[in-house]
Amino acid sequence: MSRDPEPGDWICSPCGEQCGRAPTDHHICTWHIGTCSYCGTKDLPVTAPRDFGYPRIPERADK
Ligand SMILES: [Zn+2]
Repeated sequence: MSRDPEPGDWICSPCGEQCGRAPTDHHICTWHIGTCSYCGTKDLPVTAPRDFGYPRIPERADK
């Protein structure tokens, strides 16, 4: 049923900037290549949502 990871596992930079707050200049995020839980894009740099203050996942068109 659920092929995708749990919502909110990882977030990409564009989603973080849109949905959350930008990390501080001195904050080093741990990025890796994965799937963004927010926009669903695969194979792009993602990091933990906490680096953006745990933004909410936007409503998706398909359910
Ligand atoms: Zn994203």
